Amino acid sequence: MNTAQRIPILMYHRVDDAHNQWERKYCISPKCFAEHMSALAQSNWQAVSVDDFMAWRQGKKTLPEKAFLISFDDGFKGVYEHAWPILRQYQWPAVMFLVSNLIGQDDAWSKNENPEGRTYPLLNQNEIAEMEQGGFSFHGHSRNHKDLTALNDIELVNETAGCKAELELLGISCRYFAYPYGRFSEREATAVKMAGFEAAFSVQPGFNRSDVDLFRIRRLDIFGTDTSAMLLRKITLGSNDGRLIAWAGYYLNQLKLRLGLG
Ligand SMILES: [Zn+2]
Repeated sequence: MNTAQRIPILMYHRVDDAHNQWERKYCISPKCFAEHMSALAQSNWQAVSVDDFMAWRQGKKTLPEKAFLISFDDGFKGVYEHAWPILRQYQWPAVMFLVSNLIGQDDAWSKNENPEGRTYPLLNQNEIAEMEQGGFSFHGHSRNHKDLTALNDIELVNETAGCKAELELLGISCRYFAYPYGRFSEREATAVKMAGFEAAFSVQPGFNRSDVDLFRIRRLDIFGTDTSAMLLRKITLGSNDGRLIAWAGYYLNQLKLRLGLG
């Protein structure tokens, strides 16, 4: 069996019904999520845990060629209600990044971004504990979901080290971090490292090879509007551009290589 040389990581947010066009990008319907997972399984993709991914990254473990990782940002209750039952059918693990100061509350940071000012419930402690027993692992996504690059140094430490401490108080051994809005530069990556996190997940697209920077792990943005065909092209190309035209270019290159024309 071939082993994985490069591992794609999918990034989802809310799994539920979307109420407007703005929400549709970062919210996927339960039906569409089920179709995504079914399409991946039928194409022989195999979800692995974040710890297995990290062991692979450190050269301590091999993984199957079509290994991939499922990640959810923000910690929405809809993932508990709609995505978890689907993932259990496949016995697929997943990783979720929590906003530590808002456990059991709602996504207050979205209020100003959402054109209708709606907010949605986040997981509470009991739900997190239940999911931890059933394949999910939980890590940090800051304390309040602020853009870290806009904070002063004290606030930055509060949002990174504070997040780790807060989750650990809840009994969540939190070792990895996802940057809110994917926004970071050297200063924020250093703060995350100094807070004691072992790795951080970005929103920069691409595959992860075994030499990927531990504080710049790449992820693919999967939108609520992505069809299963689009998802499969994204995960195969390691790109957020899953349009047919991108796929045709990739396929043509593969074909040229096979024919010795590349
Ligand atoms: Zn987020």
